[in-house]
Amino acid sequence: MAGRNHLYIPGPTNVPNEVLNAMHVTMEDHRSPAFPKLLKPLLEDLKKIFKTETGQCFIFPATGTAGWEVALTNTLNPGDKVLIYRFGQFSHLWAEMGKRLGFDVEIHQVAWGKGIPLDHLEARLKEDGTHTIKAVLATHNETATGVTSDIAGVRKAMNAASHPALLFVDGVSSIASLDFRMDEWGVDGAISGSQKGFMMPAGGAFLAFSQKALALVDTCTYPRCFLDLKDQMNNNKDGYTPYTPALPILYGLRKALDLLLEEGMENVYARHFRLAEGTRKAVAAWGLKLCAQPGFESNTVTAVMVPEDKDARTVIATAFSKYNMSLGGGLSELLGKAFRIGHVGDMNDVSMLGAIAGVEMALLDNGFDIKPGSGVAAAIEYYRSTAQ
Ligand code: PLP
Repeated sequence: MAGRNHLYIPGPTNVPNEVLNAMHVTMEDHRSPAFPKLLKPLLEDLKKIFKTETGQCFIFPATGTAGWEVALTNTLNPGDKVLIYRFGQFSHLWAEMGKRLGFDVEIHQVAWGKGIPLDHLEARLKEDGTHTIKAVLATHNETATGVTSDIAGVRKAMNAASHPALLFVDGVSSIASLDFRMDEWGVDGAISGSQKGFMMPAGGAFLAFSQKALALVDTCTYPRCFLDLKDQMNNNKDGYTPYTPALPILYGLRKALDLLLEEGMENVYARHFRLAEGTRKAVAAWGLKLCAQPGFESNTVTAVMVPEDKDARTVIATAFSKYNMSLGGGLSELLGKAFRIGHVGDMNDVSMLGAIAGVEMALLDNGFDIKPGSGVAAAIEYYRSTAQ
């Protein structure tokens, strides 16, 4: 099909040409005296994205899933209790990982569409007077449902309970696109990946740990090898890595960080808000509902529910086969019930309008009772009236 494929899934996201070109490198010796000049500034500049001055950043040649495992296995001991709220496929998978790794995972179910219930968290932590819970696992942005949880509120609840548990945050679909403040929110482990807000291919797990978490690494008895932070720390201090780095990912990250920092993180957050808000205006104009309940709407992904007599899979299939456009599917409980529009990474008003127009055409083709142009018009009005 002529023209390019339009990628509107919530990761992997569109890679800017500057990043693609920066990744097109010949291989080089990662033990050379020149290599630290690449790695050290990357680890420093990542801190600006995570908003940490006291924490330490790490890069693993892996994906976000490995980041979950790094956090758990470098700070906790086998059998330790961790608490997690499950409200979508990714919080589900993190909880399942915890179980498979032999931790005692206390799972609290939350209706899909909502995020972490802060009152419940505070009450549960107050009840845990002997501090058996060693870590709270918080999914900042649940990509499956388009739900963002309040991590500042999680920290507040933990403080209100005077609970010393570690706070680990999955920021795979939030960090580098949604407001994230590691130090201010007292996050002990923040996990992200290269393929969403960082606008790169998958293959880089970008992590940050607090000094409180890092102090546990030496005494932590959980067996680990490839994902051992100790090996990273020992090598990173001189600007090297414990094993062969994914060089194109590092060069791509250099350019992606330059682009993000040049735009300014506050502007990046504001752009994602506008992209999301225009999308939400379109969804409302179509008369469709979000999966996210009010107050939990994500600015990186919108999960749109379809009426009971429709199957979201046909919308996605039409969008792909007829219009060369990729949308995200409903995962697990949402299979067939929702489709997802990604608005994360290298996107602007006009690319977003392409997504909205394509969705609108696919909805019309599938017999949705919507007025042609209604979603596009709502988004156009919003983008025009709020453009700088
Ligand atoms: N956490 C969230 C919120 C995600 O959206 C994803 C992937 O989409 C993951 C974790 C898993 O990351 P990865 O696929 O990079 O391993």
